[in-house]
Amino acid sequence: MPDRVALVTGASRGIGRAIALRLAADGFAVGVNYANSAAKAEEVVAEIEAGGGSAVAVRADVADSAAVTSMFDTVAEALGPVSVLVNNAGITDDGLMLRMSEDQFDRVIDTNLKSAFLCTKAALRGMMRAKHGRIINISSVSGVSGNPGQANYAASKAGVIGLTKSTAKEIGSRGITVNAVAPGFIETDMTEALGETVTELASKQISVGRLGRPEEVASLVGYLASDEASYITGQTIVID
Ligand code: NAP
Repeated sequence: MPDRVALVTGASRGIGRAIALRLAADGFAVGVNYANSAAKAEEVVAEIEAGGGSAVAVRADVADSAAVTSMFDTVAEALGPVSVLVNNAGITDDGLMLRMSEDQFDRVIDTNLKSAFLCTKAALRGMMRAKHGRIINISSVSGVSGNPGQANYAASKAGVIGLTKSTAKEIGSRGITVNAVAPGFIETDMTEALGETVTELASKQISVGRLGRPEEVASLVGYLASDEASYITGQTIVID
């Protein structure tokens, strides 16, 4: 069994898909998690296998602790214990504070933040035993600076940064690093839903003058997952 095993949550589409492909290219066997898009997750697995790598698709709602436990069991059985965890799965459900429902708030916090807590806990046991591990949490510039209409999302992504910093301090001496990556606007289904006018306006505010590509986020994650990033922990790296 390979000793380099990565689990990427929400890897059926967008940034997670690009991260899964990148880590596979870097020699990791990859657990490709998804919630609903089974066919898309299987396509990612097929692409990895076509390139000579190993991967397994695993369905789990990352906000559900029982599903998370069984996801880790499935990946360990198929590929081996997870040495790199990328907490990437996430959703938006935007609305102004005054109109935001409690359910809208809870769903986004559970999917984006509680999921990272559950998966980190599940990954840590094996990483502590191995005295090695990399945890990379996908935050957002919304979590760093706030964004109108995204109180739930920004709170979840700011929470991810707090989770990253605290966990990094707890387990730094065990050879495990924990970092957050905070992307700006990246071309995925999530930003496509915003429409052309919003993305054109956003592009004007971006120094490079365009939205980012999922592969550009994946290349930063690839670096953080590598042995070269052994002295970087507790950081939030903005990529915008
Ligand atoms: P996306 O294209 O909408 O893809 C979301 C992924 O998350 C899908 O693979 C989806 O699986 C999965 N997912 C959603 N809910 C899930 C759940 N409960 N359990 C397991 N998987 C779940 O999103 P994206 O733009 O690639 O975003 C990926 C991450 O980057 C998110 O955390 C997002 O907040 C963050 N981010 C994105 C941007 C951006 O501009 N795009 C900027 C900053 C941060 P299914 O396909 O099965 O639904």
